[in-house]
Amino acid sequence: MAARSIITIDGAAGTGKSSVAQLLAKNIGAGCLDSGAMYRAVAVLAKDFDIDPKDGPALAAKVNGVGISFNWENDPPTVMLGGRDVSARIRELDISGIVSSVAKQPEVRAVLMDQQRIIAFTHPLLVTEGRDQGSVVFPEAVVRFFLEADLEERTKRRTKQLQEAGKDVHPDVVAEDIKNRDHIDTTRSDGPLICPEGAVVINTSHQSLEEVVCEMERIVHDALKLK
Ligand code: C5P
Repeated sequence: MAARSIITIDGAAGTGKSSVAQLLAKNIGAGCLDSGAMYRAVAVLAKDFDIDPKDGPALAAKVNGVGISFNWENDPPTVMLGGRDVSARIRELDISGIVSSVAKQPEVRAVLMDQQRIIAFTHPLLVTEGRDQGSVVFPEAVVRFFLEADLEERTKRRTKQLQEAGKDVHPDVVAEDIKNRDHIDTTRSDGPLICPEGAVVINTSHQSLEEVVCEMERIVHDALKLK
């Protein structure tokens, strides 16, 4: 493939974006960008340097100073803050608790959007997932997907993920975290979570990972042929 091609997957927490994005990317030989991991890394910076999660300019300056990057040699790519691997740290519940406040700040969104576009230039084929990838960051993407799922199913998946990572969490706490983030993510003025225009909407509540990815792969192959 000569031209750079981007496939975006947006949706709320627990809709299956990360798992779907990773498998789709693997199946079509694409890089996979987890843009939420970048927002989570900024939340780690807020904690580490005791910066107010609502202080956008200070957070953006810290991101520029320390640097967020991915180690693409690993599968999935590890998230680095300066030289430190924060892949496990970014998944902790205290980080989930402040990440949406951090992500609400326009200065933070502007810095990360530039970095996401630079990352896209280094991949001839990229699957990127998040909240605003198809609507704001890559509106020119060859296919834009939007994933949905029931809150109950989303809570079950997120709880299982956290428990598999060794965290002792109650589903009610996870449901609260999801609802709180949904509210902040959908009501913010800059890059809110919306279904991008022309996106393919898939409800993942009652489908397996493989079924969802199979459907997406077919759509992507068709779109890339037409390109
Ligand atoms: O995808 P994940 O749930 O890990 O994302 C964590 C948080 O990062 C989201 O709740 C949202 O506040 C923020 N985010 C965002 N824009 C993106 C990706 C994530 O605002 N493109």
